[in-house]
Amino acid sequence: MRSQKLFLFDFDGVIVDGMKEYWHSSLLAFEKFLNSPDISINQNHYKHVSNTFIEMRPWVKYGWEMLIIVHQIIKREDPLNNENKSDFLNQYHQNCQKVLLDNSWVTEDLQKYLDEAREYQIDKSFDNWINLHNPFYEVIDFIEKIKKDNIKTGIITTKNKIFARKILEKLNIFPELIFGYESGTKVEIASKLSTEYEILGFIEDRKDTLIDMKKNTFTRHIPCYLADWGYLKNIDRNNLPNEIKLLKLKSLEELLAI
Ligand SMILES: [Mg+2]
Repeated sequence: MRSQKLFLFDFDGVIVDGMKEYWHSSLLAFEKFLNSPDISINQNHYKHVSNTFIEMRPWVKYGWEMLIIVHQIIKREDPLNNENKSDFLNQYHQNCQKVLLDNSWVTEDLQKYLDEAREYQIDKSFDNWINLHNPFYEVIDFIEKIKKDNIKTGIITTKNKIFARKILEKLNIFPELIFGYESGTKVEIASKLSTEYEILGFIEDRKDTLIDMKKNTFTRHIPCYLADWGYLKNIDRNNLPNEIKLLKLKSLEELLAI
């Protein structure tokens, strides 16, 4: 009964920094699949990831939200920038919904176009696509070490698991379990897993997800770690509930002592 040990990881911001990929794939989704009269994509857009985008990334929960942010940053009139971004972020969810409504978009379509933009790049040049991701090698090492201790690895991501798997394979990481957005919420997945495994920890860079984990009766026993190296809002590091630990990259090794 629950003798098999398992460690859970978020993917984006925890195992891999994909900032360049998010920007690139979102632009490509507009260029190839989704027209908007408010924007026209040119090759200059691809050269640098917008600072405004980088600063707003900690608010993103699902991939489709990145298309909304990119659209608002590159639109010709009244674009989002570092001066006005706080207005958008103060009512982030409402503002995302407003952009959806104004453009008659539905979230499922946006997610589908983002996925198609990724598939397009994988078909065209897999290596170029992979190279848009920067792995956190300390985490890769940690996953290799726990494997030697006979602890299984589970990845829970809000991206399509096919893409996470392709990146992990390239890094020579073969987790026993990968769950993507198709599998339900992270709390639901962890709740089911906890009936089968002894879960030693969950490393995630979205504080609200960890708070949800701690609020749920079936997952609150799971040790939760906020990844200090991930996409964090400045305020995330403050006022952290006692049961959620801020984890630094260099402290990963200490988790093996548990
Ligand atoms: Mg993340």
